[in-house]
Amino acid sequence: MSASGEIQFADGALSGIPVFQVSGAAAQILQMHKCGDRQQSGAKTCAQMQSRPGANISLKKNHLNRKNYSRTKNSAIAQDQNAQNQNPAIAGNSYLTAEIDCLPEFSEEMWQNECRVRLSRAETDASMTAAGFFEGLVHPAIASYIIRSEGIADEKKLANLRERREEILQRFMYRLRHLQWTVTGTGGFERAQVTRGGVSLAEVDCRMESKLQKGLFLAGELLDQDGLCGGYNLTWAMCTGMIAGRSAAQ
Ligand SMILES: Cc1cc2nc3c(=O)[nH]c(=O)nc-3n(C[C@H](O)[C@H](O)[C@H](O)COP(=O)(O)OP(=O)(O)OC[C@H]3O[C@@H](n4cnc5c(N)ncnc54)[C@H](O)[C@@H]3O)c2cc1C
Repeated sequence: MSASGEIQFADGALSGIPVFQVSGAAAQILQMHKCGDRQQSGAKTCAQMQSRPGANISLKKNHLNRKNYSRTKNSAIAQDQNAQNQNPAIAGNSYLTAEIDCLPEFSEEMWQNECRVRLSRAETDASMTAAGFFEGLVHPAIASYIIRSEGIADEKKLANLRERREEILQRFMYRLRHLQWTVTGTGGFERAQVTRGGVSLAEVDCRMESKLQKGLFLAGELLDQDGLCGGYNLTWAMCTGMIAGRSAAQ
């Protein structure tokens, strides 16, 4: 599952509309593995920063085998898989990975060309710093985060990296397109904008009356229905609320 848009890197969490779009599925998968709560406490990542518009986030799941249901849909608590300060307890349990492509607007050809140009410029410019290598590509805070998570200072001269230089520069470029995070949980019910779960749609009729309890009318979030961001949830709440209200008054 994937979504595009502006991603926010909050303290210990990924947020923003694309994260909302995929977090319902993430919560569901985590609940299947019953690992979310256990892992949340170790999640610490970077300071607040924001990607440029158009970043892409996708979820990759591993080892799916249990069935259950999740109820939250909001920001995802996550840990950068490449970060130096990783909690090994989390890294070892990679049930779910969120991968961020910070530059989805590049075609493969454009990207290969960009890599060639940047690597050759780094080769010839002896004064280029690690931060300078990323100039014009992403927000400096994202560049700085990638640089520091490789254990390097922003102002480090690339010429001083010596024999590991090429490998590190290749990694810098790779991580701009594949910034991977182990998803360890969600912000929980309190921080959710929309919730999954609730009364099954199979248990209400078209007047929004419960099939199990006559005279009980249900609407909005009480029902097991959630939509993508874009006004669908408010529309759902208002439409079902209107039907339920009219039906109850009849
Ligand atoms: C921060 C935020 C931003 C959102 N942005 C969007 C958006 O941009 N677009 C979109 O489509 N959706 C958005 N949503 C989701 C949308 O607001 C909800 O899906 C929608 O409001 C649900 O309506 P509802 O009537 O089912 O529930 P609610 O709006 O939660 O209403 C339930 C009401 O019941 C009251 N209540 C609870 N318990 C009791 C009780 N025991 N007795 C009496 N009253 C009680 C509550 O106080 C509340 O007023 C957002 C939600 C949040 C939190």
